[in-house]
Parts: sequence; C-alpha cells; structure tokens
Amino acid sequence: MHTVTGATAATGADGARPAPPLAALGLDIGGTKLAAGVVDAEGRVLSFTVTSTNPEEGPERGLERLFGLGRKAVAESGLGWERIGIVGIGSGGPLDTTRGVLIAPPHLPGWRNVPIVALAEEALGLPVALENDATAAAAGEHRFGAGAGTRHMVYLTISTGVGGGTVIEGKLYRGASGNGGELGHVTVDCAGRHCRGCGRKGCLEAYVSGTSIAERAQEAGMGAVTAADVVAAARAGDPVATTVWDATTDALACGLTSIVNLFEPELVVLGGGVVSGAGEQLLAPVRDRVRAESMAPAGGAVEIVQSALGDHVGVVGAAVIAFDRLGSLHRPD
Ligand SMILES: [Zn+2]
Repeated sequence: MHTVTGATAATGADGARPAPPLAALGLDIGGTKLAAGVVDAEGRVLSFTVTSTNPEEGPERGLERLFGLGRKAVAESGLGWERIGIVGIGSGGPLDTTRGVLIAPPHLPGWRNVPIVALAEEALGLPVALENDATAAAAGEHRFGAGAGTRHMVYLTISTGVGGGTVIEGKLYRGASGNGGELGHVTVDCAGRHCRGCGRKGCLEAYVSGTSIAERAQEAGMGAVTAADVVAAARAGDPVATTVWDATTDALACGLTSIVNLFEPELVVLGGGVVSGAGEQLLAPVRDRVRAESMAPAGGAVEIVQSALGDHVGVVGAAVIAFDRLGSLHRPD
C-alpha cells in the first residue's frame, strides 16, 4: 500500500528528510536492445521503452541514447523526477559494481572501463546503482515475479548468451565485485565447443544460447537459420532440427542438474528469448531430465518454470537493485 502522497514524496522543505522514492528508473543494456522503464515500489511497470543498442557506435553515443531513453521513460511514466529519485542499471559483465564501471563486456565491443555510474549520475542527477543484468533479473523475478516468496531460487536467462543469478537464504548472491553467478559458464563438456563468452570449452552457453543453436543448426545442414527457426522446424517434426533441439535440451538439462545439485533451489526460473519462444517445448524435457538425474532429494522437489516478468524483467530487476541499494538514500541537492 502506498501511504506516501505527492506532497510528502517531494524533498522536504527546510532540510526535512525526504520521503523514500516512490519509483525507480530501471535501465537495461543488452547486446541488441537498450530498455528503460519506471517501476514503482510494488513492482508495477509505469512505463517501458526499448531501442536498439548499436554497440559499434561506442560508449559515448550509446550512453547518450540510453540516458535519452531513460528521460523518455520518466516522461511517459506520469511521475516527476522528484518522485523517482533513484536509478538502477543492468548490464552484462564483466563489471565492477562497487566502482560502478563496465570493464569489458563482450556484448559491447569497444566499451572498456566505462565509468557508467558516474556518467549516469552526472547526466540524470540521481544516485545510480550498477548490477550484472542476469543478477538484477534474478532479483526482479525473486521480488515481483515467478520466484516471489521463495528462499532459494536460481534464474537462468537464455538469449544471445546465457546468464544467471542466484538467491540463497532469501538474499541475492553477487560475488566479491558483482560477477558471481555466471551460470551460463558451467561446463557441460570440458572438451566441447568453444565458448565465445569466456573463451573456455564446453560451457552451457556454447550449446544452448540462441547464437549456438543457430550455429549448430547451420553445421547440421539447415542453412542460415535462427534459433526460432530451429524451434519451429523441430515442432513440425523436421528430423535435423529435432536432433539439434534435442541436443540443446540435453545440454541444458545437464548443466541445470549440476546447478540444482549445487544449490538445492526450490525453484528454477528460466527467462530470455529462447525460453519465451520455445515455452514447454524446452521446459518439459528439461524438467523431466533434471528431476530424474539430480541427486535425491534436491531434484525431485525442484520446480522449473518460465519467467513471469517476460520482456520487463531487465528493467524491473534494475529497479529492484536501485531500491535495495539506494532506496534509503537522500536525493542529492
Ligand atoms: Zn563460457
């Protein structure tokens, strides 16, 4: 329940302590899309807007567009800046959440050592928190999505790459500088395919990312196809596509079984474009195999479901990070 009125939400007169923010601006930097949205303290998305990333334009131009998108989301939210007060940014790593720096994200070639928090605070005039995008998404699903009410939850996002986040004892696990929980780089074959994300061999990402599904389909003779084409062809019974798809769900079940054995989560939430496109065609075989193969009793009890926040997960997650890390801070004068 909101008890904060418009009058009390504004910065108090005569140095009175301002009320906590009513909402946060969430910004999400993906390899193909930038997203911005205003999210209130109960997880409602008041505005949502997306544009393409065009990472080749470089960080200066890219950040200008990101901050412009944020201003648009604020304008469309119906709330003033003073009622928002905080900003969360999610991006793929590696990054340093303490210093607020993007180190060298592979999905943003040429963006090296970008002090994104300082740049965003200067551009938007509000306190800003940075988090790994999949970790932020896990926080979003845990607070307001499919994982609400759970104490032990794993989130895996499967799109261009594969990212993950973990909630342990009700708390987000972040690692020493915010790069923990890289569940996409769990090894499923130590002599296997090259992983573009980290350079090792046989990572989960090297088999189940949208990029890898398309690549493996091409190697199997399907021509230049997308992951969505493979899903559709397998559903229609095409034998080559079925082989590629079965290898995909096998690799996902293999990696996820290790993750379930490691954490004994009550719930695994799967999100990202590959999952939303395939739905139960992915979830059903993976659920069956993980439950059958994980060590008792962890596996038999685990629920495996699709993300509830869908396309909004990135901005909701970034907003949750802002609330958790900045929600009690004063707005700078
Ligand atoms: Zn890897």
